[in-house]
Amino acid sequence: MIPFLDLKAPYNELRIEIDAAVSDVLQSGWYILGPVVDRFEQEYAAYCEIKHCVSVGNGLDALHLTLLAMGVGPGDEVIVPSNTYIATWLAVSQCGAIPIPVEPSEATCNIDPTKIEQAINKRTKVILPVHLYGQPADITPILTIARQYGLRVLEDGAQAHGARHNGRYLGGHGDAVAWSFYPGKNLGALGDGGAVTTNDTELAERLRLLRNYGSSVKYVNEVRGYNSRLDPIQAAVLSVKLHKLNEWNSRRHKIAQRYQQSLAGCGLRLPLTPHWAVPAWHLYVVRSPQRESLQAHLTANGIGTLIHYPIPPHLQQAYLNLGYKPGDFPIAETMANQVLSLPMGPHLTTAQQDKVIAAILSFKS
Ligand SMILES: *Cc1c(COP(=O)(O)O)cnc(C)c1O
Repeated sequence: MIPFLDLKAPYNELRIEIDAAVSDVLQSGWYILGPVVDRFEQEYAAYCEIKHCVSVGNGLDALHLTLLAMGVGPGDEVIVPSNTYIATWLAVSQCGAIPIPVEPSEATCNIDPTKIEQAINKRTKVILPVHLYGQPADITPILTIARQYGLRVLEDGAQAHGARHNGRYLGGHGDAVAWSFYPGKNLGALGDGGAVTTNDTELAERLRLLRNYGSSVKYVNEVRGYNSRLDPIQAAVLSVKLHKLNEWNSRRHKIAQRYQQSLAGCGLRLPLTPHWAVPAWHLYVVRSPQRESLQAHLTANGIGTLIHYPIPPHLQQAYLNLGYKPGDFPIAETMANQVLSLPMGPHLTTAQQDKVIAAILSFKS
């Protein structure tokens, strides 16, 4: 059996360091925020080459609290991709605002910058591109549009730790990036976690208030805040794992290159990386009109695959109230019917990948 992703392997590689770091937190008697969380925030900000990192409880809260800190509220509109994970949309709804879907580019699966302008009106406050599958979205034209209309840009980087755009790590381009440290992400905790990176000092300060009951001095509440904090146990784990991020991403990169070479010409649509992008290869996603039979063939050969994502947000029951119907966002809908994520991760061995490739090449549609 070749699993889609082996979550135990990264822990086992770092077991001695992680166990020691967790044990130190357990011994410290300090279990919420504090020095271990501060240290991780400084390390992650330095890694991203950004001034501030504010950690929070999870990636959804990172998005939600940043939108609130940007002043998004009821009646406002936020531009989102039509083919993202539902968290991107939920963060907007949680502010009482409306997610306005924009179709992705067929080539890259990321939001199509040429379709953003037609979705902007006087209620639009923020553009929220997603670096889906770890592929950097085309941020340069998005920033140009945002500046032209006075909008803010929040990037969903939940799948893109360590990805680069034009040589720079994500985070220095737009106003802020929201990150998730869900265990399966490229930088994953052993539980929930999230963060926001930004060069905007005022935004960072507002986020620090919002994540902690609206309070910077204990029992003095400046705004009606939330409880969304990264705990020191997870921060300690993340500090250990951060040292491995680039090495693990380069292993993902090699696996992706090998898939690209071995699967070229086999009839599947393979990921396309623009020249200015260094992806984090969170997922390796192929597309096929025979997706269901290909997945069944791989399952029969003992190979785990997943679909990211089978139902686009506008067709989810959760968003029935927006009144969308099948056919409204055809590119997202076709992708949902065709995408298949192959096994990918820093601990996938060459022998395992050989088996995946052989099984795909033996598929007769
Ligand atoms: C994982 C993910 C999130 C949410 O992160 P959580 O930590 O699970 O809340 C948001 N957006 C995208 C694109 C994701 O993949």
